[in-house]
Amino acid sequence: MDEKNTVVTSTEPGQPAASQPGASDPKSATQAPPRERRRKPRISETPPVPPPPPCLADYEPIIGKPQLDELHFLARSARGKTVKMVNSTSMGGGVAEMLNRLIPLLNELEVHTKWDVITGGNDFFEITKGFHNALHGGEYVLTKEAKEIFMMYNEQNRQRMQFVEDLFVIHDPQPAGLIRARERNRGRWIWRCHIDLSNPHPDVWGFLRPMIEEYDAAIFSSPQFARQLAIPQYLFYPCIDPLSEKNKELDEAYIQKVCDDFGIDRSRPIVTQISRFDRLKDPVGVIQAYQLAKKYVDCQLVLAGGGASDDPEGAVVLQEVMDAAGDDPDVVILNLPPWSALEINALQRASTIVVQKSLKEGFGLTVTEALWKGKPTIAGAVGGIPTQVIHKLTGVLVHSVEGCAYQIRYLLTHPEFAKELGKNGREHVKENFLMTTNVKRWLLLFQIMLGTARPEPPDKI
Ligand code: UDP
Repeated sequence: MDEKNTVVTSTEPGQPAASQPGASDPKSATQAPPRERRRKPRISETPPVPPPPPCLADYEPIIGKPQLDELHFLARSARGKTVKMVNSTSMGGGVAEMLNRLIPLLNELEVHTKWDVITGGNDFFEITKGFHNALHGGEYVLTKEAKEIFMMYNEQNRQRMQFVEDLFVIHDPQPAGLIRARERNRGRWIWRCHIDLSNPHPDVWGFLRPMIEEYDAAIFSSPQFARQLAIPQYLFYPCIDPLSEKNKELDEAYIQKVCDDFGIDRSRPIVTQISRFDRLKDPVGVIQAYQLAKKYVDCQLVLAGGGASDDPEGAVVLQEVMDAAGDDPDVVILNLPPWSALEINALQRASTIVVQKSLKEGFGLTVTEALWKGKPTIAGAVGGIPTQVIHKLTGVLVHSVEGCAYQIRYLLTHPEFAKELGKNGREHVKENFLMTTNVKRWLLLFQIMLGTARPEPPDKI
């Protein structure tokens, strides 16, 4: 790893951070003064024991009692039913994040929901990554071999898993082939698509589409993402959990500690992008925007991310990012393990501005997270981002490196306007993109799918 860059990976528990590459080397410390502050151990090499998930009553202070009562009422008709959700990774990425919270809440409402993750070799995940990029409109040569490997792993997973539930929810293209497990008259199958299908590669979509049309329904995250299909389609905005480690309120002392550990100076403006190291998140474009803005305003740039377990390109992109950052001590690049939710929360809260300069995006949960924390947010006008960032009302939208640089400069020099954006952004999330709204959408869809859309009137319950 290039020692000039401020890259932090995980640190063994109890081991001083100074043993990290470049962290305490006196020569590099002179070049990069913030590193001198990094002394303490940071993130452990193993995932911490997760805190118990919140229960529904914990949301009452945030959403109010009537909204909670509504969830209990809606759950009555699906009570006792069984649901299986399947995706391709249990850690890393927005889908896993959401399922981690959704599933305990559905279970608390007595809709018995299980979560399974498909397994596959590198060859499978290389192909599904290629599919992912192609479905976002990228170039791709779809070979017979790729199709066979895709189907082979789906078939392996189909044989390994049991399909005995009332409802099956299959997330994204990777496990879409599990529909082959469908038995006549048994269970209802829903395909939940989290990605933008507005401009898919015709061959890849042509390959997947017949599978998708075997489902009973498809769910998209935005009307623009949807394709014409022969099955009913539903719109579900993604959501965040305000009580998760990633989003809960934090003590000021903890935020300060995280910044100290990572060598971030809180007395100067902090511009942050949190994202997997993926070209579609344009981390190099963020560095270029920062470099342009920096000619006019003082600031630091924090790029924090990691490679999701289903993303083999991550290391290559991280290297590109480090090359683009050069030896600028004000660029802090953090390669975090997937269990860094508290650190990410603290970094978002410590930020003056949050950037999400994606070139393609699903919904962009990092944007939701930043808005919920009341942060002025600059984001690429792609995917689900414009649903969240209403230009100049709940944040600002950008279309280029120059536009992003301009907005960094503008918001850093107009703090009152920036504060107003942050305030509006939080309200927008509260209304539309919290986990409790998502639970409500699932309950309504389960009613439709199970044919129980008309529960008994309240006085008979
Ligand atoms: N995230 C994370 N660690 C990282 C990078 C991202 O935990 O190193 C989280 C981030 O906070 C967000 C999710 O992963 O909750 C990313 O979701 P998003 O929709 O922004 O993008 P995706 O990675 O799914 O394309």
